[in-house]
Amino acid sequence: MYYGESTVLYFNGAFMNAADAKIDLYSQSLHYGYAVFEGIRSYQTANGTKIFKAKEHYDRLRYSAEVMGIPFSVSTQELTDLTYELLERNSFTNAYIRPVVLCSPNMSLSKGKESYLAITAWEWTNGYLSNQMRIMTSSYRRPNPSGFKINAKVSGHYVNSILACQEAKDNGFDEALLLDIEGNVAEGPGANVFFEKDGVLYTPAAGNILPGITRATVLDLCEILGIPVVEKKFKPEEMRGADSAFYCGTAAEVVALESMDNIPFAQPWENSLGSELQKAYKNCVLEKEYTAETINN
Ligand code: PMP
Repeated sequence: MYYGESTVLYFNGAFMNAADAKIDLYSQSLHYGYAVFEGIRSYQTANGTKIFKAKEHYDRLRYSAEVMGIPFSVSTQELTDLTYELLERNSFTNAYIRPVVLCSPNMSLSKGKESYLAITAWEWTNGYLSNQMRIMTSSYRRPNPSGFKINAKVSGHYVNSILACQEAKDNGFDEALLLDIEGNVAEGPGANVFFEKDGVLYTPAAGNILPGITRATVLDLCEILGIPVVEKKFKPEEMRGADSAFYCGTAAEVVALESMDNIPFAQPWENSLGSELQKAYKNCVLEKEYTAETINN
């Protein structure tokens, strides 16, 4: 359950009880998946409740709206302030925050005329993904970048994620791995992917993926920790049977992959570069120091 009797959300200019919020059934967003959204985390840190990378997320929200032609001009500062207020009103510290920009009633296929901002949040302590995931290469490909604004976070894109995720679950796996239109490894349904081979990390280059904010954080951490990382196109054969691999995303954080298409990754997770990055990421979101010396403390 995402909300209870006293949960408050923000919608179209006001804070209100979640149960009282109503959207119009003629909203363009509902019929066509024509909405943009974000997934953001807040953490209880030694310095109080902190929203991780609020600026990056809200900049991306505005970017997503802009490329989709949805009018939306609330500033990052205003969005961040509203979000902190929402967390405070709900007494949330460790939370998942879900802002969405919805379009007004309009059954035509024209650009959005007017938009409404909703920000919801719910308490979140553990990642939604299991400890070590068994993934399968999906028969569904990520949307063709010639047909979609693939680097924007658009609601309609997630129908593809749902198909892939359900296919994986129906086949007894924890999660899917999607290829892009050219058959290269792209990403998970809601996370980016890295694999390790001979001391080097590899991740799909930007272009056919949602370039995640967590992915960017991991790349920064690699630089700090001196971990070599290569962004490139690669086929699933190159990743299958690699030394180790992980998914990363706001909700997933850094999560180990146990196997791909039933072929285990060779190395124990504890010895992998991903495990080191998992600890570093945790330190980072909790605002603990993350230098090469302090990383494992
Ligand atoms: N790819 C997809 C398809 C996603 O939905 C997400 C989650 N937003 C990611 C990657 C990871 O992005 P981020 O690290 O910004 O959460």
